[in-house]
Amino acid sequence: MATLADARIDIARIPHPAPVPSATRMQAIADPGFGKVFTDHMVSIDWVEELGWHNAVLGPREPISLDPAAAVLHYAQEIFEGLKAYKLADGTMALFRPEKNAKRFNESARRLAMPALPEDAFVEAVRVLSLADRDWFPEVEGGSLYLRPFMFASEPFLGVRPAKQYKFLVIASPAGNYFKSGAPAVSIWVSRDYTRAAPGGTGAAKCGGNYAASLVPQAEAIERGHDQVVFLDAAEKKWIEELGGMNLFFVFDDGTMITPPLGGTILPGITRDSLLMLAREEGLTVREERYSLEQWRDDATSGKLVETFACGTAAVVTPVGRVAGHDGEFTIGSGGPGQMTSRLREKLVAIQRGTAPDPHDWVMRLD
Ligand SMILES: *Cc1c(COP(=O)(O)O)cnc(C)c1O
Repeated sequence: MATLADARIDIARIPHPAPVPSATRMQAIADPGFGKVFTDHMVSIDWVEELGWHNAVLGPREPISLDPAAAVLHYAQEIFEGLKAYKLADGTMALFRPEKNAKRFNESARRLAMPALPEDAFVEAVRVLSLADRDWFPEVEGGSLYLRPFMFASEPFLGVRPAKQYKFLVIASPAGNYFKSGAPAVSIWVSRDYTRAAPGGTGAAKCGGNYAASLVPQAEAIERGHDQVVFLDAAEKKWIEELGGMNLFFVFDDGTMITPPLGGTILPGITRDSLLMLAREEGLTVREERYSLEQWRDDATSGKLVETFACGTAAVVTPVGRVAGHDGEFTIGSGGPGQMTSRLREKLVAIQRGTAPDPHDWVMRLD
């Protein structure tokens, strides 16, 4: 059987015998929300120790059958990525920095003792799926085709060691605007009893296990009337780390910004990285520096801190208006979206949508 050499990726195509009828599809993508509508196709690539990556196929999206002893079901050897296919102003389909996702995927793979996937294969898989399902692109404001590449251990084995068999899949989901523009800022809850990531743990890897562990604190946030949970560092329970799935930026009255430094416990967001570059190019000072909850509260109260925003692929840039914890709450700025938040969001979205120049070649055109 042909295996995937690093340089050449051949994805076989299995025609879909019965794609979703056009009228049903149009109805499904009229108001897709997030993560609940799925397209006709998926890409699948297998890995076994003897062959490496092989059997790359673009075919109908369908249920997969797993042995009940599959390692992922017992020891959670699983990683994923999240990126979007956009439609540029001229109708071209495009991806945003997909090679960064490919690279991060392999960093996650290394942490979870999984095989690396050639970056070209990752990008090619995402590209062919985006094109195969381009009719699923939702023509709504802020619409995109959300792509979810993931890999899991499929070997039936209950011993504890890295599996010898894996499956890589990419599925796609039409998505609307995560938070409609002009939506009020989110309110966040500071978790005291739970942390997301400890030094030496898996905080920098995009693995399902991190999310499983965040569900109880996230539910606590919702129960208390907030939208999202913010985690403190596990060692001192003092420093702000990030939300369950978004990085944070703090904006001060002198125009400078802070974002918590990557150090193994924070997910290295591609949105975070892009905003850092855009802000610095504008001549803004952004420090990657630890920032404590106490300082955050003091600075918000004194007016030194004027904005806080969260960022990630799904919601792009989201203002934080209110912060609450076991010992009280505070408001940030006016409690609504701030100027810097809106400006950076617009700048990034303009590059992603092809309405502004793209000096770093971040946008990969697919047509
Ligand atoms: C994916 C993710 C982010 C955001 O990363 P982007 O590359 O910007 O989408 C932030 N934090 C966590 C925990 C994540 O899983």
